[in-house]
Amino acid sequence: MKENDSSKYKPHHFLAITLAYIIAIESVLMIFVMPRLPEMGLYLSAVVDSLLVGLLVFPVLHFSIFKPLIKDIKKRKEAEESLKVSNAELVKAMDELQEKSRASALLADMDDLLQSSSDFEEAYGIIGRSSTLLFPGSSGSLMILSPSRNFSESSVNWGDREPSCKPEACNPEECWTLRRGQVNILKQDKTGFPCKSLLSADRGDYLCVPLQAHGEALGVYFLQFESDRLSDSKRLLALTASKQVALALANLKLTEALRVQSVRDPLTGLFNRRYMGVTLERELHRAARRSNPLGLVMIDLDHFKRFNDTFGHDAGDSVLRELGVFLRNQTRKEDVVCRYGGEEFLIILPDASLEMSRRRAEKIRDEVKYLNLRHNGAPLGPVTLSMGVSAYPENGPSPDGIIEAADKALYVAKTGGRDMVVVADAEQV
Ligand code: GH3
Ligand code: MG
Ligand code: MG
Repeated sequence: MKENDSSKYKPHHFLAITLAYIIAIESVLMIFVMPRLPEMGLYLSAVVDSLLVGLLVFPVLHFSIFKPLIKDIKKRKEAEESLKVSNAELVKAMDELQEKSRASALLADMDDLLQSSSDFEEAYGIIGRSSTLLFPGSSGSLMILSPSRNFSESSVNWGDREPSCKPEACNPEECWTLRRGQVNILKQDKTGFPCKSLLSADRGDYLCVPLQAHGEALGVYFLQFESDRLSDSKRLLALTASKQVALALANLKLTEALRVQSVRDPLTGLFNRRYMGVTLERELHRAARRSNPLGLVMIDLDHFKRFNDTFGHDAGDSVLRELGVFLRNQTRKEDVVCRYGGEEFLIILPDASLEMSRRRAEKIRDEVKYLNLRHNGAPLGPVTLSMGVSAYPENGPSPDGIIEAADKALYVAKTGGRDMVVVADAEQV
């Protein structure tokens, strides 16, 4: 305010006012004082003369020195002001640049870790930790769509506050982001549209980004900003982060599917022969090191061809599937049940002796008779199983040897009339 007031008066105003005062004072002196004080006349006339000279010199000084000087000062002031403004802009740009490079480094780190993560739990942990660092002061959660399309599958939460949208509370049918496959932003100023399942819609700005990769919806990346606002840069950062998250999760899903495919038989869901080979070798090493026994049961469905011939190939497939479920239910978690070939199965029984394995096989042979096999509602009749049992150490330390012993015992069971369990002789190897 003060600065404004003083800036109204320019130097030449002061000059004019001063001169006016001087002329007025001198006129008063000459008219009223000098006639009364003649002895001071000389002195006063000198004063008057010097003032007149000053009157001439001042405009010269003003226009040649003061005015350019003032102009220069003014220009400098303006330059200083604009320097201050551009300095502030530079500092802001530097801050933004620093923030961007910090975010890029965090994104690169997250990507790197996600690429190296081996399972979903590990990936969820990485996503949670990285999101805390990427969006300080915010809270959020990763909601993963289960195959049945509800949010009950595992997810991760981050931040100090409870997220307002929780997987267990969120119904995909009520989620705008999932329904439209688009980003949904809900701001405290009431812009945007809240989902029904949002626990509280007035605790800040919300951002929901759909997680999509390879054309598949995987879930939602949810962020809530309470102390801080959702800025454009944060929105863009969230979009980039969620793209990385979606791609990493889709890749993990693919890897998991490939891993399952590489070790599982697609029809029965049991381990395949390749996996059995690797596992048997490992388990035999372990058994030898710990001086523990290991049992092996080879199973063949009796007259399975008849099922195919009588009820069709699909009915035969149903029998194999049912038998797969049955065998899994009949064995312990640590046992490895495999589909060895067409209608042949093999069970590795770690820590089971030859006798123990025989008893287990006998139990399976008994129980299978109670299987109520059906195909398209039609009963398929009972099945019987022939089995050969071998074991470590009786049938040698090599995987091929122990399998061959069980196979030979199975052949004996077949030729002996089927529906029986035959134990391999140690001499058979
Ligand atoms: P045995 O008691 O001597 O073992 O008689 P079997 O009929 O069980 O044995 P065989 O070797 O004569 O026939 C096995 C049949 O299993 C032949 C094959 O077509 C059938 N098979 C193999 N794999 C599958 C499969 O994946 N699905 C179906 N439906 N049938 C299969
Ligand atoms: Mg066979
Ligand atoms: Mg058979």
